[in-house]
Amino acid sequence: MRSVGKAQRTVEEHRAAVAALLGQTPVEDRPLAAALGLVLAEDLRATIALPPFDNSAMDGYAVRAHDVADATPERPVQLPVPEDIPAGRTDSPPLLPGTAHRIMTGAPMPPGADAVVQVEHTDGGVHSVRVDRSVAVGTHVRRAGEDTDAGALVLPAGTPLTAPRLGLAAAVGAATVAVRRPPNVLVLSTGSELVSAGQPLRHGQIYESNGVMLAAAVRDAGGHAEQLRFVPDDVPQFLTALTDRITSATAEGNPPDLILTSGGVSAGAYEVVKDALADRGVEFVRVAMQPGGPQGAGRLDGPGGPGVTVVTLPGNPVSSQVSFEVFVRPALRAAMGHPRPTRPLVRAALSETLHSPAGKRQFRRGELDAAAGTVRTVGGPGSHLLSALARANCLIVLDETAEVHAQGTEVDVWVLDS
Ligand code: AMP
Ligand code: MG
Repeated sequence: MRSVGKAQRTVEEHRAAVAALLGQTPVEDRPLAAALGLVLAEDLRATIALPPFDNSAMDGYAVRAHDVADATPERPVQLPVPEDIPAGRTDSPPLLPGTAHRIMTGAPMPPGADAVVQVEHTDGGVHSVRVDRSVAVGTHVRRAGEDTDAGALVLPAGTPLTAPRLGLAAAVGAATVAVRRPPNVLVLSTGSELVSAGQPLRHGQIYESNGVMLAAAVRDAGGHAEQLRFVPDDVPQFLTALTDRITSATAEGNPPDLILTSGGVSAGAYEVVKDALADRGVEFVRVAMQPGGPQGAGRLDGPGGPGVTVVTLPGNPVSSQVSFEVFVRPALRAAMGHPRPTRPLVRAALSETLHSPAGKRQFRRGELDAAAGTVRTVGGPGSHLLSALARANCLIVLDETAEVHAQGTEVDVWVLDS
């Protein structure tokens, strides 16, 4: 491998630096409805069994199996029906021998009954029923505790809360869950060429796009994003925008966990982020990757010592988004306690021969054909090719140790649309 100069970091080094700056967010109790995608911070135990009581799995008749043992369509058995037990009935009328209670799905089994004849095997009678089939003991009865025992560990700490898991938490009677709160992220774009949607574009200007993209990426990672109004390449305006919002957010009791900037970090003449933050606790480095070489990260000097974590991403839209994928998304997810902070990684064979610069890990936009186990590029390596990024479903990782990656070579692929 080509040796990496002093000013350079490997992808792993910068990744670790960003993750270390962020740390884990505090644990809080949240209503189930506000917990989707968050990660359980404490074990969730069932205080009740599931089902909590023996109940019917069918609409039909609760019987003693013995009473209908001889029933056939030709020689049905007729039983009186003293009680109707809809779901939600809370008393327990016992079943006397030689009778049947009409019962609905989910209703508690009456004491004395040991099976349910489904309504399709009867005449559906209300006061008296004709039963056409025999049933074995236990037929269509859902036993208390069959799904989970009282006291059982139903969801261990570290479990990401999916829809079914929230359903399970609700079923065992939990109103809230202990989760790590989503990180609060402020997103600030820089560039004197940037214009808001709805404004006419003059020659030399472009519509601002990193702000909405990075804020969406934060939300997609599970964080809470607030997009600040972008600022021109002007150090005082940049610092004012930043410090004003940090001050007001802190006063509101909602201090940011992370400030994410884009643009102004490379080697040009008007590098506003670098100029503003280099002496304020943020370290600017070159990472041996493409796109996304120029990076910065650190804790902003505050009145009481090191304060809010800042990660400064390069401005080219593809560089910005790929840097987010490589450094920020895993750190945000780790901060929330996610057991798998990184994207799913698969191996796939290149459909074409690719070239990448020596000593740099290249992240190419790709389209994975999971069934075929192959991957092809979408668009070229240019870090301005946003439409190609928008079409891609994966990132192809080209190792820094080789400059030529022959067709058929197996490479790492990060699956994005999962
Ligand atoms: P910079 O990193 O500031 O030198 O910007 C690199 C390239 O990315 C330039 O072509 C910028 O116009 C473009 N760029 C920077 N910030 C944004 C943004 N927020 N939205 C769209 N393009 C941007
Ligand atoms: Mg710029």
